[in-house]
This record gives sequence, structure tokens and C-alpha cells, in this order.
Amino acid sequence: MSGCLFCGIIGGEIPSTVVYEDDRVYAFRDINPQAKVHVLVVPREHHEDVEALSANPTLLAAVITAGVEVAKREGIHDSGYRFVFNTGDDACRTVFHAHLHVLGAQQLSTFGH
Ligand code: AMP
Ligand code: ZN
Repeated sequence: MSGCLFCGIIGGEIPSTVVYEDDRVYAFRDINPQAKVHVLVVPREHHEDVEALSANPTLLAAVITAGVEVAKREGIHDSGYRFVFNTGDDACRTVFHAHLHVLGAQQLSTFGH
């Protein structure tokens, strides 16, 4: 989608550090990491948020499965990790292309604050 930051990253017009990719999803390092490991997993197809993405359960599952693969590749599968989808203003969502945050490699804080 024209003007979408993450479509630009998927298309290669905007640089990123890839961690995992397949025909449906692309995973890359967050530019402003909130943990020692902070990777974003995005569907190649543009969906505004996870709610829109949930209309395609197969693609949603591909994003989750890729997140698990990222956790394995980043060596945090056994130590533990957190999946986050921010939706809407109260969650401080900033990018309008559905993305799964994968966070770990350290003791994470409790959330909700
Ligand atoms: P959210 O607040 O859930 O919309 O998350 C958007 C995330 O995208 C934030 O964690 C940003 O740090 C990250 N981000 C923004 N621009 C880039 C970029 N060019 N490359 C990688 N991550 C980015
Ligand atoms: Zn997009």
C-alpha cells in the first residue's frame, strides 16, 4: 500500500534487518528496541491492524507461527518471550500495518502501566 512504512520495508525501498521471511510474512529488527530482542513480524499483504488481519485466519496463523520461528532463531524460545499486538490509541500503536512484536532475551516487566 502506497505510503505505508512497513509495505516500504517489505518492498525493500526502506532498509531493514531481516530475521526471517517466507512467502507470506517478513520479520525484521525494531529500530527502537524495547528489549534485547525486539523483532517485528508483518504479513506481506497490507492489513491495517490485527483486527483486520483476523479476517484472514490462515495469514494470522502464519504471523504467529513465524513469531515462534523468530523466537527459536533468536535463542529465546526456551527462556521465554512476549508477543504483542498494539491496536488503537490507548495501546500507543503508531504504524498502521498489522505487526506482531516479539520481545525477549531479558526479564520483561509486567505490563499495563
Ligand atoms: P506500534 O507502536 O505497535 O505501532 O509499533 C511500531 C514499531 O515500529 C515501533 O516499535 C517502532 O520502533 C518500529 N519502527 C518504526 N519505524 C521502523 C523502521 N524503519 N524499522 C524498524 N522498526 C521501525
Ligand atoms: Zn502496509
